[in-house]
Amino acid sequence: MSTLGVRLDDTARRLAAVGIDDPRLEADVLWMKALDIDRAQLYARLHDDPAEAHATAAEALTARRLRREPLAYVTGTREFYGIDLTIRPGVLVPRPDTETLVDEAISVLAHRAEPAPVIADIGCGSGAIALALAANVADATVHAVDRSPAAVGLTRANAERHGLGERVRVYLGDLTAPLPEPVDLIAANLPYVRSDELPTLEPEVSVFEPAEALDGGADGLDLVRRLLREAPAHLKPGAAVLLELDPRQFDEAAAFAAEAMPDARARSVRDLAGRERVLVIETTA
Ligand code: GLN
Repeated sequence: MSTLGVRLDDTARRLAAVGIDDPRLEADVLWMKALDIDRAQLYARLHDDPAEAHATAAEALTARRLRREPLAYVTGTREFYGIDLTIRPGVLVPRPDTETLVDEAISVLAHRAEPAPVIADIGCGSGAIALALAANVADATVHAVDRSPAAVGLTRANAERHGLGERVRVYLGDLTAPLPEPVDLIAANLPYVRSDELPTLEPEVSVFEPAEALDGGADGLDLVRRLLREAPAHLKPGAAVLLELDPRQFDEAAAFAAEAMPDARARSVRDLAGRERVLVIETTA
């Protein structure tokens, strides 16, 4: 037998050896999951020998992560915008970058001062954007749409779990097709990776995450263009469309937006790393 402290060191060493960036942190997370305890409890037990069943559970989780399965799939959770989301294979793992989109959506809606705004999250995945907006915009209704049954099921489960089942309505369908009413804001983190770049991304993304949530076609903008064409028919006067994009796509996406929505004005918002990340298209009231 060896102590938890020794086992944590060993797990971290093995994670580092396969090129994982934060091996110590991830070793802690995997053992916290295996022992079903929080970090304070983990550190209080460093000198104890874990039970064999717990060590076996930790080894099974570690083996998955060593194959570069995303940590969020291994633990089944990811925090986004302060909300603990259930995450499953088959659905994109929420990224910190996307919090920039949520921040900007909240700010745009605050400036509109519309009571009980109606929001659409197109391509909702795990429900990260939909839940963050429902939780942080007073009296908002969010229509969350995805073409993946796995995503729709997960968004519903996450909304129920956080008591947002009434205000987050979830639809299986293609882009804006299921929207039941005009909206004040469309927020979308659609697939925007170029098809030829997808295989070059890290294995967590290229091997384990669903290509249907990432692959945006030859220039990455196939779904973005379709959404921009469809959007005007679903927007209230003065409504906005917020799209997460790759920093390299802004000029082209803005040019297309100007064509599809000639009366609207587009601007970009940078993420915490200073890269253009969110295209904001605002129509006139
Ligand atoms: N930012 C994601 C990635 O490169 C892409 C997400 C998306 O296509 N919407 O991993």
